[in-house]
Amino acid sequence: MRNILDLDLDELKKWIKGSGEKEFRAKQVFDWIYKGCFSFSDMKNIPESLRNKLAASFQTGIPEIVEKYKSRDDDTFKFLLKYSDGNIIETVVMQYKHGNSICVSTQIGCRMGCTFCASTLHGMVRNLTAGEILGQVLAAQKNIGGRISNVVLMGSGEPLDNFDNVTKFLDIVNSEYGLNIGQRHITLSTCGLVPKMRELADMNYQITLAVSLHAPNDEIRRQMMPVANKYSMAEILDACRYYISKTNRRITFEYSLVKGKNDSLENAEELSDILKGMLCHVNLIPVNAVVENGYSKPTQKDIAAFSAVLTRKGIETTVRREMGSDINAACGQLRRSYLDEQRGE
Ligand code: SF4
Repeated sequence: MRNILDLDLDELKKWIKGSGEKEFRAKQVFDWIYKGCFSFSDMKNIPESLRNKLAASFQTGIPEIVEKYKSRDDDTFKFLLKYSDGNIIETVVMQYKHGNSICVSTQIGCRMGCTFCASTLHGMVRNLTAGEILGQVLAAQKNIGGRISNVVLMGSGEPLDNFDNVTKFLDIVNSEYGLNIGQRHITLSTCGLVPKMRELADMNYQITLAVSLHAPNDEIRRQMMPVANKYSMAEILDACRYYISKTNRRITFEYSLVKGKNDSLENAEELSDILKGMLCHVNLIPVNAVVENGYSKPTQKDIAAFSAVLTRKGIETTVRREMGSDINAACGQLRRSYLDEQRGE
C-alpha cells in the first residue's frame, strides 16, 4: 500500500479529485498528518466517504520505534526505526536551547565505502522514499512531544545518490502544508558527487551544503574515500564554487581527523591553501573509531594545533562537539550493532 507521505500537495489534490471528492480536502488531510494525527478515522473534518477511500489506498507510514537510547552526557536521543518491510535505520535527535535538530538517514546502508563510516560496511540495501525520510521526522516529533526545527541529512546514506527522493523530501519538509522548516535550517551532507552537487545548485535551494572532504589532497582522500577515485578535489571545489555562486550560501567542509593519516600540521597548511578565499567553514570532527578500520582520533592537543593553523590562515573553523558518543550516535554505528545482535554476532 502506498505511503501518503510520498505525495506532495498537488499529487494528493489530484488523487482526491480523481476519487470524486473536493481537492481542497488534500490540504486538510495534510494538516492532520503534519500535526501528528496518523489515523484517517480521526480526521474529523474529512467526510467519511473520503476517509474510507484514503484508508483503502494509503498507509500513513511513520516507522515504528524499535529502540530509543538517551545519552547520559547530553540531550541526544538515538532512535532505531523499522519500516514496514522490516528494514532498520537510525535517526538522531539533538535537543538544544534553540530547538530540536534531527539527523536523518536517506538510504538503508550506503554504497560509497568511506573507510571511517559504519553505515557502509554491509553496502547499500535500498533508497528511502521521500515519505520514509519524512516519517523519521514525524516519528521523532511524536516521541519527544516537540517540534523539530532543524534537519540535517547526514545519517546513513549519500543523499545525492538518492537525488529525486531527497529533493522531494526537501520540498515537503520546507513547504507550508508540510513541516514548514526553513531551508536555512536544513543541511545536506555529501561525499562529493560532483554532477549532483551542480544539479542541486541549479535548483536554487537556500540549504547549507556540507561536503565531506576529510583530506587536504587527492592522495590521502583516495585512501579514505573510494569516491575520490571518481571525482578529484579540484572538481569538488569547482562544484562548491558553483554552488556558492548560485546560492550565495557558505559551504561547510567536514574533516574527520584521523591520527597519523590526515592530522599533521602540513596537512592543515595544505587544507588552508586549497580553501583560501572561498566562502566556507571547516568542521573538524575527531574520528569515531570503527573496529574494522583501525582509525583512532588525535589527541586534544593535536586537534587544537590543527585548528589553530586553519584559523591563523583565515579559514573559519570549529571542532565538532562529540554528541551522544556513549550511545554510538556516530553515523551507522547503532544500526550496525543492532543488526549484529540480531545475527547473533
Ligand atoms: S560517510 Fe556518508 S557517504 Fe560515506 S559511507 Fe558513510 S553514509 Fe556513505
